[in-house]
Amino acid sequence: MSISEHAIAPRQQEVIQHLKQVMEPTLQTDIVSLGMVRNLRIVDDYIYLRLYVGSHQQELQDQIQSKLSTLDWCKKVYIQLCVIPGVKITLAVSSGKGGVGKSTTAVNLAIALQQQGAKVGVLDADVYGPNIPQMLGLSQAAVQVIDTDQGQRFMPLVAYGIKVMSVGLLAEPDHPLAWRGPVLHKIITQFIQEVDWGELDYLLIDLPPGTGDAQITIVQESPICGVLLVTTPQQVALADVRRSVQMFRRVGVPVLGIIENMSYFLNDTNTPISIFGRGGGQELATELHTALLGQIPIDPRICTGGDSGNPIALTHPETMVSQVFRQMAGAIANTFQTPKFL
Ligand code: ADP
Repeated sequence: MSISEHAIAPRQQEVIQHLKQVMEPTLQTDIVSLGMVRNLRIVDDYIYLRLYVGSHQQELQDQIQSKLSTLDWCKKVYIQLCVIPGVKITLAVSSGKGGVGKSTTAVNLAIALQQQGAKVGVLDADVYGPNIPQMLGLSQAAVQVIDTDQGQRFMPLVAYGIKVMSVGLLAEPDHPLAWRGPVLHKIITQFIQEVDWGELDYLLIDLPPGTGDAQITIVQESPICGVLLVTTPQQVALADVRRSVQMFRRVGVPVLGIIENMSYFLNDTNTPISIFGRGGGQELATELHTALLGQIPIDPRICTGGDSGNPIALTHPETMVSQVFRQMAGAIANTFQTPKFL
């Protein structure tokens, strides 16, 4: 028998309440707040949902089954498990607009996480400017495809011990944006699943800038544990961040915090000089109830290092920039309690 329209909303609420009792053990937070449950649908007496998890969290599936089996009306629960094989923690690096240092942040944070002993991969999904390979000195490299039992898989490239895959490497050099619209988003999402990452503690996904369909699709279709939002201190960049935070919250993906890039410049006497205004990142973080994860100074060596494929976090560990990346990597490891990888 089909339930009436009116019965659906209370049942939905009831299911959500039950799901909220399932806790992710490391983060000690419920799976709904962590954005792990999406596409919840109740059809007649059947529950359908997608569970987005890291490769180490698949047992949550059994807990959901047993929790929902206590609902007397529920005949069966269908869980579609969404996981990137071998990947524990997937983080997205995003920005409201281009040119604020999103890719720079992804690359140097990857290095800093790896320096703490974690196995790290970077997926460059920035279709508008896939520059991660260049920043890691891999622009001329060719991607290998291997045949596996599950079909064809792309082998990531490796730079400084970090596994790297880029949408830019898939396209012809002269036609990097050959695909557009929904086809493109579908290809990217599929692509994320089809890379043979091996075992990774962290996969950082460098998203395209902005809050359009491309970002929403990638974020919704991937098991992203949280988003790091990169901005510069100017008001106009901050307005874009506000929009981004709202977008991620709407689709239920947690925003871990804001990273303010080009925050200040250290002069000859090591005095910080604010060039683009001061305090914007902190004010915004407070307003949006999120954390300011770090403030990265302007340093010309970021630029030269990025252009030549030598990330500053690796080549100049003594700089303030590298210190900030190490601090942020430490904070991330603390959040996900991963120092055991050391
Ligand atoms: P996005 O990915 O947001 O488009 P990029 O990471 O490509 O931005 O950075 C844009 C440019 O700004 C690059 O040339 C990069 O080297 C430079 N850049 C980024 N952050 C800094 C910084 N803190 N100091 C100096 N140059 C920077």
